Amino acid sequence: MNYVFDPAPVSTVAVHGSDERIPVRRIFCIGRNYAAHAREMGKDPDRDPPFFFLKPADAVVDDGATIPYPPQTENFHFEAELVVVIGKDGKNIPEDKTLDHVWGYGVGNDLTRRDLQLKAREQGRPWDLGKGFDRSAPIAPIHPVSKVGHPDKGAIKLTVNGEVKQEADLADLIWSVPEMISILSHSMELKAGDVIMTGTPAGVGPLVEGDTCVVSIEGLGDLTTHIGPKE
Ligand code: MN
Repeated sequence: MNYVFDPAPVSTVAVHGSDERIPVRRIFCIGRNYAAHAREMGKDPDRDPPFFFLKPADAVVDDGATIPYPPQTENFHFEAELVVVIGKDGKNIPEDKTLDHVWGYGVGNDLTRRDLQLKAREQGRPWDLGKGFDRSAPIAPIHPVSKVGHPDKGAIKLTVNGEVKQEADLADLIWSVPEMISILSHSMELKAGDVIMTGTPAGVGPLVEGDTCVVSIEGLGDLTTHIGPKE
């Protein structure tokens, strides 16, 4: 193949306890998947069909990184989330078969330019620039299913400079991991390397330069992100 210019490097996330890395294909994110967070965003939590948005694969950032405060926002937010990595292609996956398609689980932070997201929401416009900006998806090393099984409960917590901001349980998810995978797979074919960020609990709030944000999920470890100066 003769490319016009060099193709972008493959975006990857780390694997816990291994030198191998996972090539990332797409990052799906679900909106309002914990009732108390839906309420704090001014929406009714209910069982209306869930909605999704995407981040580009190259938005991923490793554990321990320093992220420059992003441009064009005055309200840059953290969102603690369970991350699911798909390891096997599939479409129209029945709910009871979805877990066969999961490679592993990890800890993520759905970084958000909240002011841009809310303005877009108000105007009925896409969320991409509020959600899918550069370095908007820190993800800690992924734990394979062979080691951790399929966590469907356990504490999820986020601190900023040691102060607890979000604290909930994975059991509080409105749409479970099998439901999310099944629903997504009826909309498009899922592929190995697809990543799903499963929504954030209540308590979202701002990050500023100098902050250290740590997301923890019981059994899956921590994700630490430092916020640097604006580039
Ligand atoms: Mn989110």
